[in-house]
Amino acid sequence: MKIAVLAGDGIGPEIVAEAVKVLNALGERFELSEAKVGGAAYDAHGHPLPPETLSLARESDAILFGAVGDWKYDALERRLRPEQAILGLRRELGLFANFRPAILYPQLADASTLKPEVVSGLDILIVRELNGDVYFGQPRGLREVEDGPFKGAREGFDTMRYSEPEVRRIGRVAFEAARQRQRRVTSVDKSNVLETSQLWREVMIEVSKDYPDVELSHMYVDNAAMQLVRAPKSFDVVVTGNLFGDILSDQASMLTGSIGMLPSASLNDRKQGLYEPSHGSAPDIAGKGLANPLATILSAAMMLRYSFGRNDLAGRIEAAVERVLADGLRTADIAEAGKASVGTREMGDAVVAAL
Ligand code: ATP
Ligand code: MG
Repeated sequence: MKIAVLAGDGIGPEIVAEAVKVLNALGERFELSEAKVGGAAYDAHGHPLPPETLSLARESDAILFGAVGDWKYDALERRLRPEQAILGLRRELGLFANFRPAILYPQLADASTLKPEVVSGLDILIVRELNGDVYFGQPRGLREVEDGPFKGAREGFDTMRYSEPEVRRIGRVAFEAARQRQRRVTSVDKSNVLETSQLWREVMIEVSKDYPDVELSHMYVDNAAMQLVRAPKSFDVVVTGNLFGDILSDQASMLTGSIGMLPSASLNDRKQGLYEPSHGSAPDIAGKGLANPLATILSAAMMLRYSFGRNDLAGRIEAAVERVLADGLRTADIAEAGKASVGTREMGDAVVAAL
């Protein structure tokens, strides 16, 4: 199990150190190699994703990623900014499937803005396609309006597109994931309006024939946004395109009320994956030992589950996290104001002890 450890900037090094500690406490043999990424790599090598970091990532089975970015790099030209590192890794490794679970831990039920009966026990998985859609479709650009009342004015345009194989592979990934869960997939599209979505829906139906044990339903994205707030527990796995997934996954994460708790995974078709917390580099609290390491620790659990097929080890980490929450340990982000009981390192230590 070869793992590239890319801690990055801001709180990245602090939270990744705790996840590494947890991995090492499992009593398995992991081959961990560290490399710089983001602003830290720019400072050391003049590029946010230097060749040595990229080749380490390529050779590894999985990447444990912290976070990148800091205001001090804002003045750099775009290709040198820290954020380019994560975009480059996604592209170079073909990481097309983004997994974002939204889980409400019973111990943190107060954190949600929704009523307890609506969210208690919430456990949904959003599977977002990451390489296609309107973000990358060509042509795109700025031009002049040719006719009509706005003739001569500037207009911006983008192209929404998905090919059949792209939809099929994200569909398969979602159905496979559903088999490890409640065996229900909701495909979200806007097929009443968009051609791309009509193809999307057709292909999802075709894929579902190979998974007779999994129930497929379809929902328009506007309705999905509403249902996520009205009855979030009615979902198991949600599969959707890049644009809709961007929005819905952020919406779903806020149902749990705690940004410091949510892991994520981005996978390619070789089950190579990049695992990172859903939150960013939090420069405002970097270096202070205040950050919650649990999203990163839970990302390491996702790595064991999805890249290494070790549900047993993933389950042990998740149970240990529940245990420390039940014991009342709280970093500032999940505590009532002024009632934090632990910092980054103590939280990591507690998870290790619970293991
Ligand atoms: P990005 O653009 O990288 O996603 P962002 O601007 O969305 O970054 P984050 O870095 O995610 O912002 O931080 C948002 C807020 O949440 C900040 O106030 C930050 O301190 C807090 N925060 C983020 N992650 C954690 C964490 N692990 N523990 C505690 N607080 C956190
Ligand atoms: Mg953000």
